[in-house]
Amino acid sequence: MAGNLFEFDVVVVGGGPAGLAAACAASESKSRVALVDESPWLGGQIWRGHESAHPKRNSTAVSWIERFRNSGAALLDRTAVVAAPRPGLLLAEHEEGPRQIRWKQLILATGARELFLPFPGWTLPGILGPGGLQALVKHGWPIQGKRVVIAGCGPLLLAVAEGLKKFGAEVRAIYEQASGGSVSRFGLKLLSHWGKLWQAARLRTATLGIPYRCGVWPVAAEGNGRVERVMLTDGQASWSEECDYLACGFGMVPNVELPLALGCELKDEFVWVDNWQATSVPNVYCAGEPTGIGGADCALVEGQIAGYAATGNQAKAEALLGSRNGWHSFRSSMAAAFALRRELKSLAREETLLCRCEDVSLGRVRQFSGWREAKLQSRCGMGACQGRVCGTAVKFLFGWHADSVRPPILPARVESLVSQPAERNAGEPKGTEPGVYAASPPKE
Ligand SMILES: Cc1cc2nc3c(=O)[nH]c(=O)nc-3n(C[C@H](O)[C@H](O)[C@H](O)COP(=O)(O)OP(=O)(O)OC[C@H]3O[C@@H](n4cnc5c(N)ncnc54)[C@H](O)[C@@H]3O)c2cc1C
Repeated sequence: MAGNLFEFDVVVVGGGPAGLAAACAASESKSRVALVDESPWLGGQIWRGHESAHPKRNSTAVSWIERFRNSGAALLDRTAVVAAPRPGLLLAEHEEGPRQIRWKQLILATGARELFLPFPGWTLPGILGPGGLQALVKHGWPIQGKRVVIAGCGPLLLAVAEGLKKFGAEVRAIYEQASGGSVSRFGLKLLSHWGKLWQAARLRTATLGIPYRCGVWPVAAEGNGRVERVMLTDGQASWSEECDYLACGFGMVPNVELPLALGCELKDEFVWVDNWQATSVPNVYCAGEPTGIGGADCALVEGQIAGYAATGNQAKAEALLGSRNGWHSFRSSMAAAFALRRELKSLAREETLLCRCEDVSLGRVRQFSGWREAKLQSRCGMGACQGRVCGTAVKFLFGWHADSVRPPILPARVESLVSQPAERNAGEPKGTEPGVYAASPPKE
């Protein structure tokens, strides 16, 4: 590597379970491997901070992070990949300046984020995603004695309740929007995934005393300057619950912006991959949540397959296919059990903010015929989050899709953008042009 130019055989983007596993597997070959992550810690969303003196260090996390540290792979941390100007090259943002990273094989393990849906009052201070609140608390946010209501969708609600309780929060209730029947059927499916069944039983035991109600969803939040109560319904009765925090999220959305920037095809909103985790773009692999929301165990197996396949170790990759397929059946059961109910599409009123970065209401956005027109006319999705919140909400609310991904995919300094190489080097393959990346049509 020279200055801000780095060159590796295999570059892995994302230091969560999928990326760590991919980097470890790829490092078993003679390849020069690097792992790139925008954050200063390893472990991604679930294992953040587990390397340091975490009070309840997860042994799986510690062993994967140690394995990575001993693997010989390079770590480019605090390095956010913001563009893919041409095949074989990534442009990244680092506090010391822009970085160019050349790759021969690329493994994308960019994870997922929480899905937020608008309802009256959802932008009040004190309302956060469950994972977001948990992350803040893990980093020292004071939650001791605070009344927290947890609402939304998915197994993460229970995991967050356990975590917040451990840090001294008074978790008043967990409200799951999926029906009780659906969640019970999912519980039965766990009989074929003993590890997950054990995990669920442990979480439920740790949260005994906290009411867990299914078929309930939030309809509004109120408070004077910050959230003081949340209004809930089970479709028949409505009631309110006093709280200091509302932790509310409706599942996960895959981070597919970088895969799209590279031209990877999607299938049903996720990155399409073959049996070896290879995407539709030559030499680009994808593992973990961008290919489907399956949890950390699924991400670990997919990451290893991608790492082995990218370095030509087919035998080791093949040995993991059975385990990966098992996790995929768990992933499908989870998606079916926690599908979002139709009623969530009509929570927001005309005046409810849809785009909180640019203050655009639902009523304003509804006037347009699609996402592109809404963006151009109202600035919806043009703010700091670049549509990561409202763009995914309109997919659920109106079925609108973005028809392009524009760099930078994460906030970047102008200095970094102007450092983008405009010309291809002689011999470099033709591919995606710098500038606008068209989102590929969904794969059949
Ligand atoms: C906020 C949140 C909290 C969660 N908490 C829990 C929990 O408590 N328990 C649980 O079981 N599951 C939790 N999950 C789910 C869990 O994180 C996933 O199942 C699992 O971590 C998936 O692993 P992954 O490697 O695919 O992605 P992740 O762990 O999400 O890792 C992705 C990594 O990619 C990096 N990245 C993304 N884009 C770029 C880029 N352009 N440039 C550089 N780096 C990039 C991110 O910084 C991140 O470190 C949580 C998820 C979220 C979103």
